[in-house]
Amino acid sequence: MAYKISDDCISCGACEAECPVEAISQGDDKYVINADACLDCGACAGVCPVEAPQAE
Ligand code: SF4
Ligand code: SF4
Repeated sequence: MAYKISDDCISCGACEAECPVEAISQGDDKYVINADACLDCGACAGVCPVEAPQAE
């Protein structure tokens, strides 16, 4: 299980600093989560203004 960032992402960057394992990075048109590193903690979803990080 891992969180995934949807196309709703506005690339604000708020989630990147919240991730305890640095699994989030800026992609070409949105931020992306490294599924292999994600712990499923939900911290990114808690700070996102547009609810882009979704549990799969
Ligand atoms: Fe990082 Fe937690 Fe979001 Fe996974 S769910 S990307 S571990 S903040
Ligand atoms: Fe995208 Fe939400 Fe992360 Fe901002 S907090 S970069 S909108 S996923």
